[in-house]
Amino acid sequence: MDTIRTALKHIDRSMSDWEQRPPIPFEDFLREVAAQPSATVRNIFQVFHDLVKSHINEGRDEYPDDPESIHFASYDCNRLFVEGTDHPFFADRLFANRLINLVKAFKRGAQQNKIYIFEGPHGSGKSTFLNNLLGKFEQYANTEEGALFETIWRVDRRLLGDFQKNQAKPFLDKLTHLLDEYEFSQAELNEAKTALPSPDYLEIPCPSHDHPLLQIPKELRRAFFDDLFTNAEIKWRLFTEKEYDWLFRDSPCTICGSLYQALLRRLKSPAQVLDMVYVRPYHFNRRISDGISVFNPGDKPIKQHELGNPILQSRLNDLLQDSAAVRYLFSRLAKVNNGIYALMDLKGHNTERLIELHNIVSEGVHKVDDVEENVNALFLALMNPEDRANIQEFPSISDRIETIKIPYVLDLKTEVEIYRNIFGKHIEESFLPRVLHNFARAIIATRLNPESEAMREWIRNSGQYRLTCDDNLLLLKMEIYTGYIPTWLTEEDRRRLNAKRRRKIIAESEKEGGQGLSGRDSIKIFNEFFSTYSRKDQLINMSVLCSYFSKVHPELGEALPNGFLDSLQRFYDFTVLQEVKESLYYYNEEQIAREVQNYLFAINFDLGTVQTCRYTGDRLEISEHLLTSIEQRLLGNGPSAVARASFRDSMQKEYTARTLTQEILAQGLPITETSLYRELFERYVYNLKEKVLDPFLDNENFRRAIKDFDSPSFKSYEKKIRDDVTFLLANLGKKYRYTPNGAREVCTYVIDNDLARKYVRS
Ligand SMILES: [Zn+2]
Repeated sequence: MDTIRTALKHIDRSMSDWEQRPPIPFEDFLREVAAQPSATVRNIFQVFHDLVKSHINEGRDEYPDDPESIHFASYDCNRLFVEGTDHPFFADRLFANRLINLVKAFKRGAQQNKIYIFEGPHGSGKSTFLNNLLGKFEQYANTEEGALFETIWRVDRRLLGDFQKNQAKPFLDKLTHLLDEYEFSQAELNEAKTALPSPDYLEIPCPSHDHPLLQIPKELRRAFFDDLFTNAEIKWRLFTEKEYDWLFRDSPCTICGSLYQALLRRLKSPAQVLDMVYVRPYHFNRRISDGISVFNPGDKPIKQHELGNPILQSRLNDLLQDSAAVRYLFSRLAKVNNGIYALMDLKGHNTERLIELHNIVSEGVHKVDDVEENVNALFLALMNPEDRANIQEFPSISDRIETIKIPYVLDLKTEVEIYRNIFGKHIEESFLPRVLHNFARAIIATRLNPESEAMREWIRNSGQYRLTCDDNLLLLKMEIYTGYIPTWLTEEDRRRLNAKRRRKIIAESEKEGGQGLSGRDSIKIFNEFFSTYSRKDQLINMSVLCSYFSKVHPELGEALPNGFLDSLQRFYDFTVLQEVKESLYYYNEEQIAREVQNYLFAINFDLGTVQTCRYTGDRLEISEHLLTSIEQRLLGNGPSAVARASFRDSMQKEYTARTLTQEILAQGLPITETSLYRELFERYVYNLKEKVLDPFLDNENFRRAIKDFDSPSFKSYEKKIRDDVTFLLANLGKKYRYTPNGAREVCTYVIDNDLARKYVRS
């Protein structure tokens, strides 16, 4: 028995104080309002906004100093859609931005009289999205942090009963006197009033969940709040900001309104009437459609439209001694007033519900019997594109509808995140770097429109990106959707990517992701791909990926835009080639700087003389050999004598005409900051890097040494090769996060596919 009692006690304790909090008198609530207006003066739209804002973390701004930023930010929506849910939903960057903009509009109060329809194709996860969102809302709104407040009347029988004989004032005086006599403190009185269900009052909940402040007569509210708030800033916000319009505009429901009037007729004092207003948190319960109502297309319409409470009605009639003063009658919709009304899919009976909603939304009220009822709720719906026809029959509805697109994922970071979430973080260990993301790129490519006006307008010469991008510029567009501006863009194109063009590109996403491989498809395909090709002894590389999309499943390749797979492969090859080169290449920056300065100095003197360089202090024997050796570095492999002579000549002219006279002497720049020096320095580095692989390309020993790196036979290679291979593999790990195995595989890939020769840049 003891254990049972303990267990029950624990259950008791598991209810938070908040949930057990009894209704508080209006006056106490006003004190809370004065102390914390932003937490207590909120309607459904504001709380919904606060839910989303408090559950989403804005990521780091990737380009903080970008003057053309359109605040296309990265948001981490995990707490809202993934954590603690049965089925996670993944919002890509595009959708997350749409959602944030929407709730910001809610907060600004732009939400009046609208139905918000989330439109997305089958398999876009929209029902998961809405279920998770409503689940999080229900949790949040039932905590202190996310609470909304509602009215519950406690009509004092004693006040009304005695009232006909005694006027209010003497009665209250008498009551005060009595209280004093018994040395009842006010606090004790309140405690007594709230803790015990008292036969002394009749409790009448507002079925429409009216915010308690709405019980203050509209015409008195401004003056009242003026008195209530001493903080000028808060007052100013409340009085001027659009999000608080409702506080001055909305009326209480018909029941509360008529009750107020009936009580006022009897008590003659608004303050005494308001004394009977109590305040409790609005408890949301989706399962009984209180505060949140969700309808599926198959849910049959309910016949009985009017709800009431005959017992409460008759008690009320007795108390007020008037059977017509207050009609405790309301509709089911009242229960979602200041709450959420959601339609899962606009078909079947939900189409009828939408039409019914349309009338309510446009009028703001509807009739229950002959009583008007206002319904201010957040109206949400989900829609498949093909069901659009169902609502197009009713053209007048369209101006009440705002559509938010919820397409397939178009941002590759999110697509990869989905694979990781479903198959585990370890999947990445089975891929060479970049290959997993390229899988996601191929999937996303099926969802994009091949032609993009915005991209064409931006990139005038797409041919120059032959190595890094496809003809349709989809690879580039995906980067922009992911919030990344590639470094391989030319300076000019980077500059042309202004705010206006960015907005145009992002706007195109509204028309994409409605076709191609769905979220479900991509998970199925990934599952098959991964279980077939992930192996312990070898990482999945681009050859495997490309053959999967072309040979194993040619139908997948056909879903891709023409030439996309080739471009993806080319982009990959080009990138890993650069990685290998960067990792093999090392230079002594100081040495290069010295040589360039000596060269610029030496070309001004006759051959055969000896000079001390004014920049480096080196003693230079000016000889053909000295100049040629540097020119070979500057001009790349084997420049002809004529080419070198002409180059030397033009350098010398440039040096005397501009570098020395203007930049160094007139402007006082050090030589290392002149434009000619910089140009030569870059040329030098570039040529070194371009050629870095040359010595190894035809060197079979080098190739084998890479394969043998971890085996005892590695010792048998000559020292130079061992050093180079060790240096290269270590750098690939350090700079590009390759695993030791991955580094070896990518080097072999580069050499075996002869990439260095394929991608010789002119
Ligand atoms: Zn009400």
